[in-house]
Amino acid sequence: MIVIAATQNKHKIEEIESITKQFGIEIISRKDAGIPDFEIEEDGDTFEYNSEKKAREIMQYSGKTTIADDSGLVVDALSGAPGVYSARFAGVAGDNADEENNKKLLMLMKDLKKDERGAKFVSVITMIYPNGDKIIARGECEGYIINEPRGKGGFGYDPLFVPVGYDKTYAELTSEEKNKISHRSRALSVLKEKLENKI
Ligand code: IMP
Repeated sequence: MIVIAATQNKHKIEEIESITKQFGIEIISRKDAGIPDFEIEEDGDTFEYNSEKKAREIMQYSGKTTIADDSGLVVDALSGAPGVYSARFAGVAGDNADEENNKKLLMLMKDLKKDERGAKFVSVITMIYPNGDKIIARGECEGYIINEPRGKGGFGYDPLFVPVGYDKTYAELTSEEKNKISHRSRALSVLKEKLENKI
């Protein structure tokens, strides 16, 4: 089964692809599917709303089954911020966004002790078919935010996030290790289960 990925983020596409290929879904990127680079406004205040919106708009454009991920970091001490605003937390788009977002997060959390640094990553994956049927799957990974970036892998907030049960950040894990426990892989496992049970 071939499915279009609504995201433009190549890191996310790689992660989604490496997991879905294990259960027979081949992903083609929005770009490779010939879909132009129009902006989809993420104007909802839940991951579910934004995920479905992205999937639906690309499905309507392409007429093909589409998968979208809306994800972000939810920090306890910041009342859930950056949450759905994770991608542009520091108000910067483009190549510097991750670095600026990380700096802002560290600044806001600089006075917090370890037991006040709890956070989780959330991913909501929506798969939507040309007839409008949809499957929504949510995955979470709990952890905490450290004081300074560590590791070179991954993207986004990876160098600041240590998952529960580990002493390495997401960015210090190999992609295989991250894919075993990540919020995105958990959402994709739920998607797989729902596809198998057709619910
Ligand atoms: P979205 O493209 O609107 O879903 O934004 C997701 C944003 O959340 C990304 O730009 C990252 O800042 C952050 N994010 C989501 N998943 C991850 C991850 O696996 N690692 C690090 N940051 C992530």
